[in-house]
Formats: sequence, structure tokens, C-alpha cells
Amino acid sequence: STTESTPDLEDKDKLLGGLLTTGFDEASCISRMQSQLYRKASPHKPSPYLISKLRNYEDIHRRCGPNSRAYDRSMRKIVRSKNKGAAATLCKYLIWTPANGLGNQMISMAATFLYAMLTDRVMLVKFDKDKQGLFCEPFLNSTWVLPEKSPFWNEKHIETYQTMLEKDRNRTSNSKDDLPSVLFINLQHTLSEPEKFFHCDHSQYLLREVPLLILQSDQYFVPSLFMNPFFNQEVTKMFPEKDTVFHRLGRYLFHPSNEAWKLISDYYQEHLAKADKRIGLQIRVFSPVSTPQQTVMDLVLSCTLKHKILPQVDLQTSAGKNHSVKAVLVASLHREYGDNLRSMYLKKATVSGEVIEVYQPSHEEHQKFNDNKHNLKAWIDMYLISLSEELVTTSLSTFGYVAQGLGNLKPWLLYRLVNNDTHFPSCERDFSSEPCYHVPPKHYCNGKPIKDVVSSFPYLRECKDYCYGLKLV
Ligand code: GDP
Repeated sequence: STTESTPDLEDKDKLLGGLLTTGFDEASCISRMQSQLYRKASPHKPSPYLISKLRNYEDIHRRCGPNSRAYDRSMRKIVRSKNKGAAATLCKYLIWTPANGLGNQMISMAATFLYAMLTDRVMLVKFDKDKQGLFCEPFLNSTWVLPEKSPFWNEKHIETYQTMLEKDRNRTSNSKDDLPSVLFINLQHTLSEPEKFFHCDHSQYLLREVPLLILQSDQYFVPSLFMNPFFNQEVTKMFPEKDTVFHRLGRYLFHPSNEAWKLISDYYQEHLAKADKRIGLQIRVFSPVSTPQQTVMDLVLSCTLKHKILPQVDLQTSAGKNHSVKAVLVASLHREYGDNLRSMYLKKATVSGEVIEVYQPSHEEHQKFNDNKHNLKAWIDMYLISLSEELVTTSLSTFGYVAQGLGNLKPWLLYRLVNNDTHFPSCERDFSSEPCYHVPPKHYCNGKPIKDVVSSFPYLRECKDYCYGLKLV
């Protein structure tokens, strides 16, 4: 359905400057073509090198993905040689497995996809029922979903990366004979020591021989790939603007399914399209028991009023002459935040005269696991707030990272509330839309501690919302 506020399809670059490939059946994934109508065009086009890497990846995926002969042959060989040394196969694979909430999962999928492209592996995702029907297939004429009948869907006895390194240390000759065909790597936020050297040349030299890697991560580990000279060179060529890695990969990978897109676009048309400006407000309360609602509300108001994201309310109702409409989209598990803000602007006129409308698409109360409908609502919230012109997010929340990345927005970061501390600035503007890597390597590959990250790795900065984290600028 088209409305007055929908610009002409032809006006915009449907394929995001070549980021997306032609050939998809448009009806199977309406959002792939339509989402551009809801967003400002990116200021820079994707680099020709990124485009060629993507087209090349799509070729490999089509040749080696599920339902291909190469897939069957490679997988059979991997299964047969599981405990008999790394097999040489036609195709190599990287299976992504989930950990944590949807935001964590999406940032780690993006990082995993970049790693797959850098190492010529086919990325397959292990989607349980909770993620079915959220996203379109990203790769033309193939699927990225690990088939449920794969022997690696629930395989428990898999050599770990740690064991591989131990064997490597005890190895007397230089042979790589005892490398496995299948290896499990855990890159979650609870990194154990060996995984901290994952990006190093020696690790990558061993991993290259292993035809099937199973990776579990809830992190955006892209900054660590920048610490490896070879990956750094490649990624720099792919992304001349380094702070757009997630933005581009996210827009490439994550297209709302038709079901999700109907809900997103209907909500947008009904509530947001006619506003002069859209404000996304993501309020994530990590420990509701120890953080009183009023404290959170005060923080949100102090931030948005101080930085003129929202107008003050006027006690005398003598409002200014600016009658523009701002739509505020609240994403939160708790309905009180949207309700409070709405009633505040309903009761009193604003000083500026602006009309403030407050919407909150869902209020799930609690984070739920293994719940398809719950994840669908989370995806809709993330997507809708990514369509705003201005975004306020909660420090440390990967849910917010996804929205800011898809929207290419530098968010206002709400200060993280601990012990009702209120003497800090209520929020600060972030310097990039990239997600923060919460557990970056703390050592050079030779084992020496990294003292000054910024002078050693000029593209990395400490995150504003988490001083131990790093992100790209
Ligand atoms: P993080 O924990 O904030 O880093 O974000 P995650 O997305 O990894 O995990 C939080 C999960 O809680 C989400 O995936 C949702 O399932 C749920 N959740 C948190 N905040 C919201 C919200 O504003 N809206 C909805 N619909 N779900 C939310």
C-alpha cells in the first residue's frame, strides 16, 4: 500500500549502491526493496572491493551451501574424518551458534559473517524455532540456515580450540596432522585465555586447516580482526569508512521477513510517517530490582530535555509557535516509561509549541528465551527505532547497538545507572554508530600487555559506554 508520505521507489537506490545483488524474487522479501523508502540514503556508497567480496561470497555460498553437491560431499568427508585429522574438502564452513538475546546474536552474526568472508568459509546459522521467520534469506539462490538434519546440529563431542592449542604446544614436529576436522570456538563475553589470541596469525594459521568451525559468540569481535595485519588490510579495503562495518553488513544481512515487515511498515505508516521528526528512545533496565523506575525516568528526562531532544513542558500552557510534530518511539520491556512520557506531554503544552506524540509498540516485561513471538517483537522494536532521526540508547545494550548500526546513527548514550549515581552527565553523544566490542584482546600476539590501544591500533577507541570495550572509528 502506498500513502502520500511514501516517496517514489525509483527515486532511491534500491540496491544500496550495489551492496545488494539483483536476482531476488522481490515478493519473497518485500523489505529488501522497500526498506530504502523509510531511510535516508547513506552518505557514502559501499566500496567496489566490498561489493566484489560480497558477490564472490555469494558464489561460494551458492556452490557450497546446503542442497548443493559440494555441500553433501564436503560434509560427508568431514563426518568420516572427524577424529582422523583435518580432511581436505571442497568447501569450508563456519557454523554460527547463538548465545544471549537477539541484539547480542545479531552483532555476533555480523562479525561472524565478516570472518567467513575473510577466510573463504560458508557461514551457516543455527536457528532454533525462536528465530524462524524473523529474517529473509540473505544469500541469493541458497540458504544460510544450518539444516536440522545436519549431524552438527546437536553434536556434543567436538574438539575445542583450547585443546587444539594445547596439542599444538606439545607438538614436536611442524606437522599439522593431528588437527581435527571440526572445532568448537567460544568467543562469548566470558573469554577464556586462549580465545583472547584468536585473531593472532598463529591461531589463524592452524584454524585455516580445519574444514568446519563451530563458533559461539555474543560479541561484535570485528575490532579484534583489525588487530591482525592481514585481516586489517582486507577490511580496510572493504570499508574505507571504518565506522560503517556493522551498518553495511547489517543492512546486507538482516532483512525483516514479510511477516515482520508488514508489522513494521504498518506501524510506521500509522504512527510515525506523518511526524516531522522521529525520536527513538531505548530504555533498557538491566537490573529492575535495584534501579527504581523514577530514577530511570529522571535520567531519561534529564538527558532528552538538556540536549533539546525533547522540549520542556510549559506550566502556563502559553506555548511557542513551532507546531511541528515529533513522534517518540519508546522501546522498552516496561510499559511505564512510554505511559509516563505520554501523560507528561498530554497534560501540558510544550514550551516550544511542538506536539509530542509517544508510542511504544510493545512491553514484554521480561526478557524471554526461546520464544519466537518475543523475538519478533524485539526485532520490530529494534528496526522501528533504527528509522528515527535521533536516537537515545542505553549504555552497554547490544539491542541499542543493532538499532544505531542499521540506522547509521550516533546515539545519545544514557549513563549506566549503578547505585543511583546521579552526579554523572545523564547522557553523552557517541562518536560512531559501530557496536562496542566488550571483551577485546588485552595482549599483543607475543603475550605482552597492550598499554596504549589507540597508538598501537589507530582505528580503535575505548567505547564511551564501557571503558574496557573497544570500537572502530
Ligand atoms: P542487551 O541485553 O540489551 O544487550 O540486548 P539483547 O537483545 O541481547 O537482549 C535483550 C533481550 O531482551 C532482547 O533481545 C529482547 O528479547 C528483550 N528486550 C530488551 N529490551 C527490549 C525492548 O525494548 N523491546 C522488546 N520487544 N524486547 C526487549
